[in-house]
Amino acid sequence: MLRLSQGQLTLLEYCPRRFQHTILESLSVPASPALMEGQKWGDRFHLLMQQREMGLPIDPVLSHDEELQTCLQKLIAKAPELFDTRGETFRQSEHERSLTFNNYWFTVVYDLLRQWDDHAEIIDWKTYLRPRSLPFLQQDWQTRLYLYVLVESTNYVPSQVSMTYWFVRAETPNAQTQDPQKVYIPYSNAIHQQTSQDIERLTHQLTQLLESNKPFPQVPLDSPRCDACPFAIRCQRGEARSSDSIKLPSLDEIEEIAI
Ligand code: SF4
Repeated sequence: MLRLSQGQLTLLEYCPRRFQHTILESLSVPASPALMEGQKWGDRFHLLMQQREMGLPIDPVLSHDEELQTCLQKLIAKAPELFDTRGETFRQSEHERSLTFNNYWFTVVYDLLRQWDDHAEIIDWKTYLRPRSLPFLQQDWQTRLYLYVLVESTNYVPSQVSMTYWFVRAETPNAQTQDPQKVYIPYSNAIHQQTSQDIERLTHQLTQLLESNKPFPQVPLDSPRCDACPFAIRCQRGEARSSDSIKLPSLDEIEEIAI
C-alpha cells in the first residue's frame, strides 16, 4: 500500500509530473543554505517543545541558542493557555495517527494534540519568519488532512475539532524582535465532506495514473508554475523552452511546497 502525506497530495494537485519526478523517481532539488539553516532552527524548536512536553531537561538545548530562549519565553507569555493542562484528557507531542483510504496509507504527525471530553485541538509550530494567511492555511493540505484524520480516527464530530498554527518566530513590524502569532482554524461537517471528496478524487486519479504506466500529465503549456519549477529543463518548459538555456532556475524563485 502506497503511503501518502499532505506534501504528496499538494504535489499531485499542483502538477502530476512534478509528483512523478519528486516522489516516484526521488529526484531531489538541493535546498539553499538559507532554507537549510531555517529548517535546522525549526528542528531545534520542535525538539525543544517535545522534550518540554516529555518533562525532559531543556536547558541544554536552550543554552546554545538565545533566539530559541526568546521565542519560548514570548510564547509562554503570549499564550499561557497552551501550557495549561487542566481538564485535558489527553496531551501528546509528536503524536502520530494513520488512516487507510482508497488503498492508500495516510500518516499525520501532530506537533501537539490536546483532547478534552467534548473537543480536541491540533497545535502546529511554524518557524518561518512570515506567518501565512488564514485563507492560505485553510486550503493547505496539511490543515485539511490533519483535521480529516483526527475526525475519522476518533469519536469527535467535525465541529468539536480545530487546528491552531503558532508562528513562533514571527517578527514585530519593525523586525526588532519576535512576536508569536497564531492562526486558528475551526472545522465543520461541510469542510469534512469536501475534503473527503477531494481525497477520493486525488487517490482515484493517482491509481489510474500508476496503472497506466505512462508519464504523468504535465500542467498546461503556458502555466506559470513551470517558470519556477526545478524540473523545467527536464520538461522543456518555462525558460528552458523559450531560450534553450541550460541554466537552472534560481532556488530562491522556486515556489515553496511543503512535503
Ligand atoms: S516544469 Fe511544469 S510540467 Fe514539468 S514538473 Fe514542473 S510544473 Fe510540472
